[in-house]
Amino acid sequence: MSPAKAERLADWLRANGGAAPVRDILSRHAAGIRNADQLAQVLSEYEARWPGRINTTGKATIILAPDRSQDNSKDYVSYRQAAIALWQEAGTYAHDCYDELRALLYPQLPAQLPITIGLTAYGHCVGLTRTRWEYGPRITLFSPAFRRGGPYIRDIIAHELLHAWLYLADLKTDHNTDDWYDAVTRLSPLLLGHELAAKRGADRKSVRVPNPDWEPGNGTPKTLVRKVRNEDVIQHDEIARWPHSFRPPGYYLNQPAIRCPTY
Ligand SMILES: [Zn+2]
Repeated sequence: MSPAKAERLADWLRANGGAAPVRDILSRHAAGIRNADQLAQVLSEYEARWPGRINTTGKATIILAPDRSQDNSKDYVSYRQAAIALWQEAGTYAHDCYDELRALLYPQLPAQLPITIGLTAYGHCVGLTRTRWEYGPRITLFSPAFRRGGPYIRDIIAHELLHAWLYLADLKTDHNTDDWYDAVTRLSPLLLGHELAAKRGADRKSVRVPNPDWEPGNGTPKTLVRKVRNEDVIQHDEIARWPHSFRPPGYYLNQPAIRCPTY
């Protein structure tokens, strides 16, 4: 950040409530900032160390977390190293899966993403991908799932990486979207070894049914159109649970557990 830009930012912060709007964001990097001058100083140091991570346009100041991908300093360990330190065998396995699935399915993903292992929000999820503007996608794996063995975990990671890939490709990340369906259709031959013709909405069809309120001459239509489940095609809840729902019966059974020390 140029001194002139830091001045402008300091001016703007003075006029808009001091350092408060961005102080929380910076607190990790520079605790104890009291005023706009200090903040401008810290921001210019930040800019010198991590060029291009501060974007001051109009009223918004966007401060991105450091880009560690180019950082070879001794201060930081990789996500893989951190995961191995925290979860040993399970951390190694998760990152091995990431590398393998990235090469197979998602070559556009970064070389590493953060993967944490523990409890997932909402209880019913065995995996969860959340994205935050400072960090991008982060994957959480439900620690007890490691008891079911490698193939089960690998499929959870394949599913979560699809959420991450969609997010980074600026596509819709929910299951019930054409983007999800298109990706599942494209990736299934690679992951499952067979085609999958998934079409969103195909599991619902319109049928004509008798109208229970109809009586001769009462003016109501004799039949009504109802949406019913079309059992002949792949169901939405199967697509939402891709790839697990498409594995043959017994695929995950009798696999050795992966040790996962948590607490
Ligand atoms: Zn999902």
